[in-house]
Amino acid sequence: MPSRLEELCVKKGLKMTDQRRVISRVLSEATDHPDVEEVHRRASAIDPRISIATVYRTMRLFEEAHVIDRLDFGDGRARYEEARTDHHHHLIDVDSGEVIEFTNDEMERLKESIASELGYDLIGHRLELYGVPRKRRADKSES
Ligand SMILES: [Zn+2]
Repeated sequence: MPSRLEELCVKKGLKMTDQRRVISRVLSEATDHPDVEEVHRRASAIDPRISIATVYRTMRLFEEAHVIDRLDFGDGRARYEEARTDHHHHLIDVDSGEVIEFTNDEMERLKESIASELGYDLIGHRLELYGVPRKRRADKSES
């Protein structure tokens, strides 16, 4: 069965080779936000002939076709996720590297109104939050 991403690629008119199919499956099945090396690790576990260069080229192609999104979590490594219709943002725990996805209607309205006040129609935006976990009260009273 073709992965969701593969179907999207076909719809966008991309020629799908076996290796592109494997890479699209890896990206479709990812529940995290892998970088290129990690995608290569997972793809080559399925098909060892897939080179890192092929992964780079394919991801670039997918990105240009807007079927995947490139994310910047502030550590100099590009992360990727399947382009999704459910709009969401990311909070990055800078201690553990954990990434929490969230949505916030109030914030979505706010950015529309900021653009509108400045005389613009919003066509896109980027937002990542970076944080460290709050110490729990129990930890504090112990120390
Ligand atoms: Zn995400």
